[in-house]
Amino acid sequence: MDYAVDYDVVIVGGGIHGIGVAQDAAASGYSVLVLEQYPLLAQGSSSKSSKLIHGGLRYLESGQFHLVYECLRERAILLRNAPHLVELVPFHIPVYATTQRRPWKIRLGMIIYSLFSGKRFYHINNKYWNKLDGLITEKLDAVFSYYDAQTDDARLTRSVAASAAELGAELITSATFEQAAVAENRVAVSYSVGGERKTVTASVLVNAAGAWVNSVLQKIVDRSGQQMKPMPVELVQGAHIVIEGQLSHPYYLESPQDGRAVFVVPWKDGIMVGTTEKHFQGDPARVEPTADEIAYLLEIYNHHFNKSLNPGDIQQAFAGLRVLPAGSAKASNKSRDTHLLLDDKASPRLVSIFGGKLTSYRSTSEKVLRLVRKSLPKRKPVAITRNLELPVVD
Ligand SMILES: Cc1cc2nc3c(=O)[nH]c(=O)nc-3n(C[C@H](O)[C@H](O)[C@H](O)COP(=O)(O)OP(=O)(O)OC[C@H]3O[C@@H](n4cnc5c(N)ncnc54)[C@H](O)[C@@H]3O)c2cc1C
Repeated sequence: MDYAVDYDVVIVGGGIHGIGVAQDAAASGYSVLVLEQYPLLAQGSSSKSSKLIHGGLRYLESGQFHLVYECLRERAILLRNAPHLVELVPFHIPVYATTQRRPWKIRLGMIIYSLFSGKRFYHINNKYWNKLDGLITEKLDAVFSYYDAQTDDARLTRSVAASAAELGAELITSATFEQAAVAENRVAVSYSVGGERKTVTASVLVNAAGAWVNSVLQKIVDRSGQQMKPMPVELVQGAHIVIEGQLSHPYYLESPQDGRAVFVVPWKDGIMVGTTEKHFQGDPARVEPTADEIAYLLEIYNHHFNKSLNPGDIQQAFAGLRVLPAGSAKASNKSRDTHLLLDDKASPRLVSIFGGKLTSYRSTSEKVLRLVRKSLPKRKPVAITRNLELPVVD
């Protein structure tokens, strides 16, 4: 029996995941409401990423082949559907005598990456090394070049939001989710907006609150009247700096301090360097780059390029939060897979999204919809996100 509800799907979170699910749900013919606590979309990690649409070359090292394959497939879809937002560019990897990852290892990674993506990689001949943006060539053994893509993460989110809105999704900003109660046939969702408290009902509630996912979860009461329990996760902060200057190519470097892979990429009118991995505790709204992180990133740049920079050259610094599985492993070795938690497998009314990648937001959204479809009424799909061009937005 169908119960009358205000919306088929209510989503908490106006980051790439919440917006991606809204687009997929609206394309599937469902009525959709998105609640975002900030006045603008993409104010959480979806504007604080490294802005790459990539498979993640370094995830091959930790054996995350399926993730890399899926992300490269999504990269190809985004290159087709949003050429104004996602650009394929050659990334350079210099290998020095001191680089921990030896040329054979990088070559092996590139072969796998090329097979997954269908794009070749290259060796840059040493006669061109002096044209590489002032890259230090002393003790340089090799330079590899491979293709990956850059985007503007916040604009990508706004573009997917515009697509979702065109398909009929309602998006409310400055609207804070307060609590929800799951019942057998619906979920009652309360939120505050403009000083007023409102309650709506939905067939399914999607918790896409990013680093706030557990705090939203704990404001939900399940069908037996129990408060939902948080999932054990670790919040790991990642900082970026934007410095003055120009680069002809992005670079993928190994940090001399700890061997981590770090990007130095052209970004708007400057150069962006990132990222770090630092355990975070506290209110996600207060995440900020620390002085140590800024010094670490500057040192990586200064180690690799002839031009020496100091903190005065920094135009901007920002930090975002990754939601990673709890446990003692180093953050760089932890799974980057997305975990989808259901309140009830047989008849789900609530799904919470833990972790994930900007790159794979579309396939993650498809998975979310697939998991909850049995709890939704029958509707006629109006589009398939795989084939939907994303609109141009400011
Ligand atoms: C440093 C760093 C670098 C990264 N680099 C890349 C990269 O290059 N490529 C890539 O593919 N991925 C990258 N990622 C991963 C990617 O950025 C994230 O997976 C993605 O942005 C997460 O999106 P989200 O929608 O889950 O979370 P968010 O973007 O954080 O969105 C969650 C939203 O929920 C809202 N919210 C929370 N609580 C409430 C409430 N009570 N009521 C209403 N709204 C609420 C928040 O305001 C926020 O807008 C990176 C991540 C980090 C941290």
